[in-house]
Amino acid sequence: MKTIAIDIDNVLAASAEGLVAISNQLFGSHMTINDFGEDWSKMWGVDHKEAERRGEVLRENKYQKDYLPVDGAAQVINELGKRYKLVLVTSRPKKVEELTRNWLKQYFSYPFDIIVFADFWDDPKNSKDGHLQHKGDLFTQVGADIVIDDQLKHCEAAAKAGVQAILFGDYAWNQTNELPDGIIRYKDWPEILEELVR
Ligand SMILES: [Mg+2]
Repeated sequence: MKTIAIDIDNVLAASAEGLVAISNQLFGSHMTINDFGEDWSKMWGVDHKEAERRGEVLRENKYQKDYLPVDGAAQVINELGKRYKLVLVTSRPKKVEELTRNWLKQYFSYPFDIIVFADFWDDPKNSKDGHLQHKGDLFTQVGADIVIDDQLKHCEAAAKAGVQAILFGDYAWNQTNELPDGIIRYKDWPEILEELVR
């Protein structure tokens, strides 16, 4: 059975929408989903210190718990789960494991046993450039044959490691003129169902 490593944010969870909504509410920003990015300082147009302060406020509000699932994710995951071993590889920190597992249970009946928390931001020395790190080694460690991720850098790392990469979604932050070899874009879960389960 082949293994698929699946991302959580903006793949299973509609994270950009959720983050933009709570951010506008808490900080009076006027962001749209197209403003979303992993570099929060850039996303908000504020300095690193202010971005860290806002990050702290978001974490106090357990901001990820109100995210909604991406359309079709739960149904397609169930179908994929019959043919593939599914593992999750997220850049979320380990300290939101419980929140994340509860959120998954709320919306997904598929029992995700293996969730790898990459934790790019936990080490203070990485707090500024956590968004530059990639999941390449983690994909190899979980024995992934296929990767589904909305971030081009993670797909590129997968492709470099010889893992088939699916760039998920047609988002403002994952546009590129040309997709590198080994990466294919599927715009939504119904398309993944069509391509991987037939
Ligand atoms: Mg993501």
